[in-house]
Amino acid sequence: MQTISIGIMNLCAPCGCACRYCLLRSCKQAEGVDYERGKRLAERFFAWGRDKGLPEPPFYNVGFCAEYPQLLENIAFNRANGWIGARFLQCNGIAIRPEEETDRWLSRIKAAGIERIDTTFFGDRACHDAFAARDGDYDFMLLLASRAAAHGIVCAPTVPVTRENLAMLPELIDTLEAIPGIGPIGCFLPDHRGRGHLLEPYRVTPEDVAGLPEHVRALLDLRRYKTEAEWLADGPLPEYTKRALLITLRADNIDLFERMTCDEIVAYVEGLDDDYYRAIPPVNELAQMYGEPANRRLYRVRDLFWKWQRRYIKEHGLRLYDVTDERNCAAVRS
Ligand code: SF4
Repeated sequence: MQTISIGIMNLCAPCGCACRYCLLRSCKQAEGVDYERGKRLAERFFAWGRDKGLPEPPFYNVGFCAEYPQLLENIAFNRANGWIGARFLQCNGIAIRPEEETDRWLSRIKAAGIERIDTTFFGDRACHDAFAARDGDYDFMLLLASRAAAHGIVCAPTVPVTRENLAMLPELIDTLEAIPGIGPIGCFLPDHRGRGHLLEPYRVTPEDVAGLPEHVRALLDLRRYKTEAEWLADGPLPEYTKRALLITLRADNIDLFERMTCDEIVAYVEGLDDDYYRAIPPVNELAQMYGEPANRRLYRVRDLFWKWQRRYIKEHGLRLYDVTDERNCAAVRS
């Protein structure tokens, strides 16, 4: 198993939302460590990666959202290290602000170097606010999307597609496309991981997608998706050979990590990932155990793997360190 990238994650910024599909299972509370403490470890990792000549240097990711006092400093830190966070900011979950204050905030992040932001829309106003678990979230995301262009920032909204919001999509897309200066809109199917497994009954089928108007369908890139029936019929599923490692800093591991070398930390997290996957049968065995040949819902192959893993772990009563939960040290295999 080849580790192809390493990220340092610090969930020190509580999110204002608790979205139903949140892969980080946000409960509107912080779970990380002091920002500066996380940054020091990230700096150590960046120097280590440079000395090792890694093709992709380790990066520092602050979550759950972009609402924390050191945001501008962190954008500068991203710029100094050549990370994507120097130019791009995910804006979901930040504090709701009135228009004037929103303008000041956008102007500050633009001055810091941000060129592109993302806001996510889940459906009409009522559906969106219920999904995000925050009243006023839809109107605020719309305000951000509408004001971004005035500050020279491209807002590229994203829209998850589920059976719950299918009927709302044409009007939602029309609303977004009518915003002057709006960037490209991207529709996507939610991952099965985190709280995304709760949306399993609402995953769409090719027939659901075919029923969408052409201009909405065109925004949904399904190249990596097939129905479960198709994945099973098309032969052995691809075995994973690579992993992206996430070193998530928490109160219960930061003291230990500060005493360890970077090599030791990487080996420790790789060990957690190895232990997890040793306890679970390979994907093609899981497919034989749990595959549903008549299921017409659409998945990436990793969604099926996550779905079957959950079932295997539950049925066998396994108590594992969950490396698919990014609030823990985690790995995404591919
Ligand atoms: S805005 Fe993002 S981090 Fe916050 S709850 Fe929603 S998905 Fe999770």
